[in-house]
Amino acid sequence: MTLSPKNSGWIEVITGSMFSGKTEELIRRMRRAEIAKMNTVLFKPFIDNRYSSKHVVSHNKSKLESVMVKTSNEIIKYSNEMDVIGIDEAQFFDNKIVDVCKRLADKKIRVIVAGLDTDYRGKPFGFMPQLMCESDYLDKLRAICVICGNPASYTQRTISNSKQVLIGETDMYEARCRNCFELPVND
Ligand code: ZN
Repeated sequence: MTLSPKNSGWIEVITGSMFSGKTEELIRRMRRAEIAKMNTVLFKPFIDNRYSSKHVVSHNKSKLESVMVKTSNEIIKYSNEMDVIGIDEAQFFDNKIVDVCKRLADKKIRVIVAGLDTDYRGKPFGFMPQLMCESDYLDKLRAICVICGNPASYTQRTISNSKQVLIGETDMYEARCRNCFELPVND
């Protein structure tokens, strides 16, 4: 981003497959805002309690303190006096998340949202498509395919389970490119 809006809020979306570095990038941006003496707060949905309940933690273990919320509307409650609001794992939030992000941006808050664009079937995940449409800045990151080394946009589930939400780590998922991604057989 070369030119930041003045006297305005905006929405940044960071998306991509698992292992593409979304959370790492979100944490990097939040840290820089903190260094710039901005008031910042980072949210994550209650569903995701891997590693640490009070922190957002990336796959390579960098972490930042966070507030866990059960609904999108709770984010509004904690937004007073904030300059920058981060939201991780946005694909897990309810249908109010898009309106919440727009309301925050209207309050001149910089909103940084990270989330998976697609699920393990390669289908759009939660309200990420709408968030991507409403964003002012959009970064789609790619991982590296573990099979062939190409840039990877898909999240391959390596165990058989047809639930969309299955919280797990490296042992249940792999980054795969378009050629190496295999649709789950049990769906
Ligand atoms: Zn591949």
